[in-house]
Amino acid sequence: MFDVAVVGAGPAGSVASHNLAKQGFKVLLLDRKSELGVPKQCAEGLSKRAFELAPLSVKDWKRIIEREVTTVGLHNKLFLKISKGITISRKRFDKTLALKALDAGAVLKNPVLVKGFEFKKEFLVLKTSKGLFKSKVLIGADGFDSLTAKTLALKHGFQTFKPVIALQVEVKPLSNAWLNVLNASTFHTFTGLNICNGKGYAWIFPKRETINIGIGCVSKTVTRTCLQRFLKLCSETFNAKVKDLKVLEFNAGGIPVKPLKRFAFENALLIGDAAGHANPLTGGGVIPALIDANMAASVVEKHLTQGTSLTMFENLWRSSDLGFITMLGEKASKPFFNLASKGFLDRAVQALQRSGFDVKKFLFSKKSVFLSRGVKVFFNAKPCFSDFASFSKLLFLAVKHRERFLKNYDLTF
Ligand SMILES: Cc1cc2nc3c(=O)[nH]c(=O)nc-3n(C[C@H](O)[C@H](O)[C@H](O)COP(=O)(O)OP(=O)(O)OC[C@H]3O[C@@H](n4cnc5c(N)ncnc54)[C@H](O)[C@@H]3O)c2cc1C
Repeated sequence: MFDVAVVGAGPAGSVASHNLAKQGFKVLLLDRKSELGVPKQCAEGLSKRAFELAPLSVKDWKRIIEREVTTVGLHNKLFLKISKGITISRKRFDKTLALKALDAGAVLKNPVLVKGFEFKKEFLVLKTSKGLFKSKVLIGADGFDSLTAKTLALKHGFQTFKPVIALQVEVKPLSNAWLNVLNASTFHTFTGLNICNGKGYAWIFPKRETINIGIGCVSKTVTRTCLQRFLKLCSETFNAKVKDLKVLEFNAGGIPVKPLKRFAFENALLIGDAAGHANPLTGGGVIPALIDANMAASVVEKHLTQGTSLTMFENLWRSSDLGFITMLGEKASKPFFNLASKGFLDRAVQALQRSGFDVKKFLFSKKSVFLSRGVKVFFNAKPCFSDFASFSKLLFLAVKHRERFLKNYDLTF
């Protein structure tokens, strides 16, 4: 009998397993993949918050980091300096984290497909492609299409949500124009009418010698044609040619952008993508997965040693900075994509760029507080002005939460 069975050896599952095994618990970590981290479903953009959250040494990070990223660009027009951006090799990251769990004493078994669960009074049974395993506690860290979440949702009567679909190519630049994009060390982001009719968000993230170029879309109709269209748009933006990119990998996957209503139960927890904890605006899910893993491991430790309830995980998460940032992103995402689909954001970015407007300075000015309250009252009273209502809601959220948001913006990617 194991103390804890963890389904999924992604960042969430491996870090939770590492922490619990290090405390001396008997931990079983299962993954269906024969090679962990492969294929990757990630644009590999992160913030340096990961340094505090993953049990990795400076030497490990040296092998994993691909590039320091110093700027975020919107439409290649507005640029913000950042100090905490990196791109990584997700394959090396996932493998190294799983090895850390193994070194700490967890039993890692892969490839093992978990097929179902039987919940008994004192323990549960995992039905897998390699037989049955018993455990006192279950941690579901099995990603966006989590069988654990679906099983618990059915058992406890709540809803799971459809993820955003994301497509990406990892490419090698073959011309100077693309090499300039690589070496600019910028997280390029694009929204607006040209990206899945406004229902999507697109990125260009530079690694050491290659670039991840992709799109994520809130509607179900994202196809390879949308990605090709974006590649064409990029090439026009950067005066480059699509044929000067050598495609090394095609990656596709889902990103859950709505936290589940419940993710802590009597003897089970859901963490990372399985709990729907990726950021609803950016799709960044690695930092949330790492925070969840650390938080869940300490909740499980208390449960096993002092008999405290696992359900405290939900309260802890909701009152944490991650809970705040995720719920803020969820509130902002609807008005944001509403405006993007009307082309408003394209125009706003151009106007801001032309005027040299300092967004951060404005958000911290007294004017912004009065303006955001004023437009909220005015536009909410006139629901027919839905674009203005969206704009006022975004402005109101930005001004109201500016301090806590700016302190924690690095939890969003
Ligand atoms: C195209 C794309 C680009 C992205 N870009 C970024 C980015 O740049 N930055 C960022 O922070 N996030 C990004 N994300 C999101 C990020 O990849 C995820 O949020 C992150 O991987 C979540 O980690 P996790 O450990 O919760 O789940 P995962 O990493 O998905 O791990 C789940 C593991 O569970 C295993 N598993 C699933 N079902 C079973 C089963 N039944 N039995 C056994 N094993 C099972 C899987 O094999 C997998 O290894 C992107 C996602 C996509 C799709």
